[in-house]
Amino acid sequence: MKAIVKTSRTRGASYRDVEVPVINKDELLIRVTAASISPADLAIYNSGGPGFATPTLPFVFGQEFCGEVVEIGSLAKGFDKGDFVSVESHIFCGVCGQCRNDQRHICQNLRVIGQDVPGGLAEYAAIPARCAWKHTDDSLKDIGAVMVPFGSSVHAVLAEDLVGRAVLISGCTPQGLFAAGIARAGGAKRVIALDASAYRRKLALKMGADTAIDSSAPDCLAKVMRASGPEGVDAVIEMSGHAKAVSLGLKALRPGGRFVAFGLPVTNLSLDYAGDIVKRGLRLEGIAGREIFRSWYKMESLLKSGAVNPRPAITHTFPMKDFKKAFALINSKEQKCGKVILTP
Ligand SMILES: [Zn+2]
Repeated sequence: MKAIVKTSRTRGASYRDVEVPVINKDELLIRVTAASISPADLAIYNSGGPGFATPTLPFVFGQEFCGEVVEIGSLAKGFDKGDFVSVESHIFCGVCGQCRNDQRHICQNLRVIGQDVPGGLAEYAAIPARCAWKHTDDSLKDIGAVMVPFGSSVHAVLAEDLVGRAVLISGCTPQGLFAAGIARAGGAKRVIALDASAYRRKLALKMGADTAIDSSAPDCLAKVMRASGPEGVDAVIEMSGHAKAVSLGLKALRPGGRFVAFGLPVTNLSLDYAGDIVKRGLRLEGIAGREIFRSWYKMESLLKSGAVNPRPAITHTFPMKDFKKAFALINSKEQKCGKVILTP
């Protein structure tokens, strides 16, 4: 089969022939119909140095994909050949304290498909059956590859009731764009989006944001406060991981507000911990992945009812062989893209 493969500890990847994976008894073989490029895929593609911590090379990466079941292990129950599935990229152990307390997304023995075990930027992928989400029909087939990032946004936004709240979406990454639509559907009275890219601000408005503010403008915080009302926003969904955006988000929150930390900073942050968090009684909540599978039930409902349409945030589709164009687009300074999909 053809796959996008990391072959050396240098920037980039190759499109080449590799063996079709052989499944274990508890696994399914999926014929991949679409894969989207995740931030982690981008980091693996761009990396080359000793920080590249995936298993032995060559390695097939790719964390976000969907497809059709073509082979079923003897212990994998509840699936038929031809089933359309999306893949939960987090492999949970099922027996640790978190797993037994309904927190599989932060399993102590978590392994990630496409990072710790081979992934889905390929024609076929072997996945544990417990990580497959079987769709009840084909109505979400065109967006099956984005269930993982969409689910993370569902988890981040809907961890708390947003009805009547003013929400700041900090960073219009694909997950930020999804979050804007989810906050709207969740009953937010005001959805304010923040990003330096004019292209992505326009997408945020399409996704349901009321206002999209340029994060590179010097009076950005004042603009957020004007849009939210003088008390500030009730919740910040921080998707960018940028130090400046984190600091701005903390200041834009009203006392007692909720700061959702999702975006991953590339360096350690320096915060006014006492002034911005402790004394203002803020609530800080880290969000890693999706609640397995609570977030999946929520997203199925949001998507099938039409409450959220994620399609405006999916801006480009390339054949898998043209992956270099896709990665170059996401890496470009202008960032004139939302979610980018590859098809085998
Ligand atoms: Zn576990």
